[in-house]
Amino acid sequence: MPANDWGFTLYITILAAVTGAAGGSFVNCLSWRLVRGQKVSKGRSCCPSCGHVLGVLDLVPVVSWFALRGRCRYCGERISFRYAAVELLSAFGAICLLYRFGLTPAAPYYLVFSLILLGVALTDLESYEIPDRFHVAAILWWCAGALITEQPLGSYIIKGLLGGILIAGGMLAVSLVFDRLLGRESLGGGDVKLFFVTGLYLGPAVNLLNVIISCLLALILAALLPDSGRKPGDPAAIPFGPAIAAGTWLCLLGGGPLVSWYLGLFGLS
Ligand SMILES: [Zn+2]
Repeated sequence: MPANDWGFTLYITILAAVTGAAGGSFVNCLSWRLVRGQKVSKGRSCCPSCGHVLGVLDLVPVVSWFALRGRCRYCGERISFRYAAVELLSAFGAICLLYRFGLTPAAPYYLVFSLILLGVALTDLESYEIPDRFHVAAILWWCAGALITEQPLGSYIIKGLLGGILIAGGMLAVSLVFDRLLGRESLGGGDVKLFFVTGLYLGPAVNLLNVIISCLLALILAALLPDSGRKPGDPAAIPFGPAIAAGTWLCLLGGGPLVSWYLGLFGLS
C-alpha cells in the first residue's frame, strides 16, 4: 500500500470498513433467516418483534444500532447487540485484509471468502449445523479465484485440491477411529467438509496449521461460551464451525509466512 499519501490511505481504509460492515450485515441477515427456516431471498428486512419493514435509516451498519440505542424505532423492543458486533467485526476483518494484501484483487477475493466463513460461524453457533450451501458457495468462489491468481493455473488447482483432500481425508480418518473408540460421533460431517474447503484456499501446509489453530480455538470457545443446555459429550458441545472459520481467517492473514519460517528452521523452505 502506498504509505506516502495519508488522505488516500484513509479513504481506502474507510472504504474497506464500510464494504466489510455492509457485507457482514448482509451475511448476518442471511444466516438469521437460514437458521429460522425463512426464505433467504425474502424481500426487505423487518423488525423481528413488531414486523415493521425497516427503512434505509434503520439499516446503516453499526451506526443505526448506536443511533437508536439498540432499540427498534417503531416498537421500542431491544435489538440484539449481535447486529452491531458482527458488523464491527467484519469491518475490522476487511481492514486487516486490505493491509495484508494491499490494493490487489486478492483483498476483495479473500473478503468474500471471509464473509462465507462468517456465515458458517453464525449459522453453526445457532443451529449446530453447517448447511451445504456454504461449502458450495466457497468451492465456486475458489474456482472463480483461478481467474485472478498469480500462480500458474496447474499449481493453483493441485495445491488447493491436495490441501483439501489430504487434510479433510486425514481428519475423517482420525474422527472415524475416535467414533469407534468413543462409540459416538466425534466430529460433525459439516466440519470435515469445511476442512476440505479451507484446504482449497490454504494449501496442505497452511491447512494443517489451520487444524491445530482451530482445535485450540475450539477449546477456548467451549470454555467461554455459556452452556446453552447442550449435553456434555455431545459433539455439538464444541462449536467447531466458528473455531475453523476464525482459524482459517487467521491463516489467510499470517499462515503462509509462519509455515515458511517453520520449514526454514529445518532447511526445507
Ligand atoms: Zn419493532
